[in-house]
Amino acid sequence: MIPLTLTPEEMKVIRARFEAKVAKSPDCWTWMGVAQTPGGRGRMRIKNRVYYAYRVAYVLEHGPLADGLVICHSCDNPACVRPTHLFAGTQADNIQDMTDKGRRRSKPRYGMDHHAVDVSDKHVEWAVAAYRSGGMTQTDIAAVLGVRQQTVSDWVHGRARTARAQGSAAA
Ligand SMILES: [Zn+2]
Repeated sequence: MIPLTLTPEEMKVIRARFEAKVAKSPDCWTWMGVAQTPGGRGRMRIKNRVYYAYRVAYVLEHGPLADGLVICHSCDNPACVRPTHLFAGTQADNIQDMTDKGRRRSKPRYGMDHHAVDVSDKHVEWAVAAYRSGGMTQTDIAAVLGVRQQTVSDWVHGRARTARAQGSAAA
């Protein structure tokens, strides 16, 4: 992952491009430019690289993002780019957040190998729900949780109920 860093001059240009693609409401600000899926995460090309629009929004507001942090939505709306709805966290925070919300999120933008994610029963429940909803493949879910696809398959088929025993350590 290449961090998004901008000079003050670039900031001005990018901010103008960014603002032109945002529909602001009193609640969420919706990205109207290119998106991954309709209503999904917006994308913006900057200096020949593609970044998520909400990531650009965050950087424009707060400056460069520390390494290893991901952007989470407090509003749970992937198309939203309103800075006050965005917060930076670790991937583990992001998983906890989506687990708390009991909903699936899209797969993360980074490899998770540097994270030792402690897989709990809640994560198993989330993984099964995410798979059954049809929105994510087992491979996607495995990548989010840092476990093997086979492990997710086991959960989906009810072969393993105890996440901790069958999670990353055992996988
Ligand atoms: Zn929002």
